[in-house]
Amino acid sequence: MALKTTPAAPASAAATSPRLSVKAEQFTESVIREMTRLAIQHNAVNLSQGFPDFPAPAEIKNAAKVAIDADINQYAITWGAKKFRDAIAANFLRTQGVSVDPEREITVCCGSTEAMLSSMLAIINPGDEVVVFEPFYENYGPDAILSGASPRFVKLRPPDWTFDPDELAAAFGPKTKAIILNTPNNPTGKVFERAELELIRDLCVKWNVFGITDEIYEHMLYDGARHISLATIDGMRDRAITINALSKTYSVTGWRVGWAIAAPEVTGAIRKVHDFVTVGAAAPLQEAGAVALQVPNSYYETLARDYLVRRDRLLGILTAAGFRCFKPRGAYYIMTDISAFGFPDDVAFAKYLVKEIGVAAVPGSSFYQNSADGRAHVRFTFCKKESTLQAAAERLAKLHAK
Ligand code: GLN
Repeated sequence: MALKTTPAAPASAAATSPRLSVKAEQFTESVIREMTRLAIQHNAVNLSQGFPDFPAPAEIKNAAKVAIDADINQYAITWGAKKFRDAIAANFLRTQGVSVDPEREITVCCGSTEAMLSSMLAIINPGDEVVVFEPFYENYGPDAILSGASPRFVKLRPPDWTFDPDELAAAFGPKTKAIILNTPNNPTGKVFERAELELIRDLCVKWNVFGITDEIYEHMLYDGARHISLATIDGMRDRAITINALSKTYSVTGWRVGWAIAAPEVTGAIRKVHDFVTVGAAAPLQEAGAVALQVPNSYYETLARDYLVRRDRLLGILTAAGFRCFKPRGAYYIMTDISAFGFPDDVAFAKYLVKEIGVAAVPGSSFYQNSADGRAHVRFTFCKKESTLQAAAERLAKLHAK
């Protein structure tokens, strides 16, 4: 699942040290974050890790500065500052029409990453299974291991990343505790349609299962795609654990502020886990988050329009360089097929690309359980300013399809 470039501990240390956690031994460091380090090392244009290289909105940065100056510098309430939770609830009502109680149904976490793991730790028992669409965002693999869940993978198949309803149904059973959904999807750009969500709902109801839904790319939609939150599907209101964050929508991935929305009893469990894992997310940044969630609609319209321009720009660059691109309808990644370049696999290609061509991308295998399934794929991100995309275009022009 991951590139193993971290040197092993010296034999002498290994022989004398106590045994490490079996869970921690089952996964490697993140390939996505490793690619960023390789990009820095090789002075490459970084189209690997999904973080914007352009500024966050001034209004939101100012709100954070004001909060620090106003001495909002001590712990917020462990499950989130009231003002911020109120804004999250108002936002969910405005965008998806779902009314939630900020006092009993929201937990603010350190990014959607913690929201996902705390949610899983809150609901998983030994022997439980979770259904995961594959390719999947890398974190869900280690999340399953850390929480003790056994993943059951269901393939999304290119070019449209559709799934076989029978394969999905077969992945559910008496041991299933949850399905993990990510829509709009990283890495494929798929936006799940209502009919697909209803199929998922039918299975969740049939097997009495939670739907953990990572909706962090909700505002990055193209070609008329519409984001439908799983919680809005009839019967899912109290089964859905909806995860989101400030990171992508407001270009503040380093702030680490996210949240989980779930029914009161589930939220009670998530809050307990969260409390003992991190105590709470950064207090002044939650104040700024309350401001962010109240920006006018025009902000989201501009965001989507700007990302559409970047998507089309990168599609053009990659296609001209010889990649076969799977056009995303949402999120800010492009999955590509690299068969034309004649490399043995995605890792060899990604290493060549970062070292020799000077562009960093993520090997497709990091999104699959079996690396062979991702060997023909590489993922690029387009959440970058025009000058970065232009630099990538110049470097990729040196690449030759065979
Ligand atoms: N979600 C982003 C990506 O897929 C960033 C991952 C991370 O490093 N947290 O690239």
